[in-house]
Amino acid sequence: MSITAIKGFNDLLPSESGLWQFIEQTARQVFARYGFNEIRVPIVEKTELFCRSIGDTTDIVEKEMYTFTDKGGSSLTLRPEGTASVMRALIEHKLYALDSINKLYYMGPMFRHERPQKGRYRQFHQIGAEVTGAADPLIDAQVLLMVSRLFKELGLTEPSLQINSLGCPVCRPAYREALVAFLAQRQDALCEDCRRRQTTNPLRALDCKVPGCVEATKGAPAMLEHLCPECDLHFSAVQNYLAVAEVPFSLNPRMVRGLDYYTRTTFELVTGLLGSQSAVAAGGRYDGLVEQLGGPAVPGIGFALGVERVALLLGDRNFDGTPDLFIAVLGDAARTAGFHLMAGLQDQGFWVETDCEGKSLKSQMRRADKLKARYSIVLGDTELTAGSGSVKCMGDGSQQAVNLTVAAITEILTGG
Ligand code: ATP
Ligand code: MG
Repeated sequence: MSITAIKGFNDLLPSESGLWQFIEQTARQVFARYGFNEIRVPIVEKTELFCRSIGDTTDIVEKEMYTFTDKGGSSLTLRPEGTASVMRALIEHKLYALDSINKLYYMGPMFRHERPQKGRYRQFHQIGAEVTGAADPLIDAQVLLMVSRLFKELGLTEPSLQINSLGCPVCRPAYREALVAFLAQRQDALCEDCRRRQTTNPLRALDCKVPGCVEATKGAPAMLEHLCPECDLHFSAVQNYLAVAEVPFSLNPRMVRGLDYYTRTTFELVTGLLGSQSAVAAGGRYDGLVEQLGGPAVPGIGFALGVERVALLLGDRNFDGTPDLFIAVLGDAARTAGFHLMAGLQDQGFWVETDCEGKSLKSQMRRADKLKARYSIVLGDTELTAGSGSVKCMGDGSQQAVNLTVAAITEILTGG
């Protein structure tokens, strides 16, 4: 029996990789314009990093992590997200001391043990960006502007931006109490998870998808109504900057993110096109995180998008190129001459294909058609003796006589 991949772990096939490269390249180009540099962090980290940052009582840490003990007895975890690792690296390499503002982006696989379905996998890919060193609302707006530009450049009008503020350690405790009091009166209507989380992570009830909880939390107090004056001012300023930059958004007072480190501005890019996998990108401010991980008091904000979900929104697109030239060969001498020409033309930057299966001329030409080569040339004893042949334009069938030199063929391939 042949071996298959693990459930929820996907191969990215050649027919899809062009689309992925387009997404990655677009992200790199857009991020560069906003002054971001790439950081590459390991896929595996000490488990404690994620417990301390994402939070012990979140779904990710409670249920979704790929955690194992290595041969040395250490508890390690396949990273479920990128921010924790990037902040770990920022602290470890003192990047905050080299520059007061750090703008970093990353892309790569993340791992969560979830039930696989369309848009939800166990190995999935994120592209994310982080800015550390500034708490100014201008930075929040800049990150949101960048995200919205990225989606625009990807050619997507969906998804739409929703924002909220989760307050700060000054105002959140009082809000939390108000919410707990509200939930306590609706105990019986809540699901088991939400009941259990009432003491540990009550905010999650607002995010729960169980219909009973959705119903029971209608009219629940919202963080936005409990912001302290500083958070309120900050959030208004973010909205003003978004208006200045003409970034469309809507308020979603029920949005609570599934990671504990968020403070103040949080956001999601939401689509109606992917069923319950509605969040295409998400992020927010995490002003206490660096300190919580043992670094200095450096504020930060970031986001990550799910590449699989973006790819689903972009749908089937053909990013395959086509060869510039197919060299059909008849006989051993022609095969060697064709190989020589092919090598020279490839050095000039052309994509050149030739026969490597010893096929008949007819089936070589069929292959040239299948590959959608722009031009073809046939090399046989006659052409070799004459030192010339004819290049055929596959689109309209027109032929041009040509000397069998790299320079002469280059001229046709570039001119045509
Ligand atoms: P969801 O609510 O769909 O579970 P999330 O809040 O857990 O998403 P984040 O942790 O904020 O997601 O990650 C940011 C983005 O990463 C999501 O918006 C989504 O596009 C993508 N993502 C998260 N989990 C998965 C997964 N299991 N498979 C594919 N993409 C994912
Ligand atoms: Mg999730």
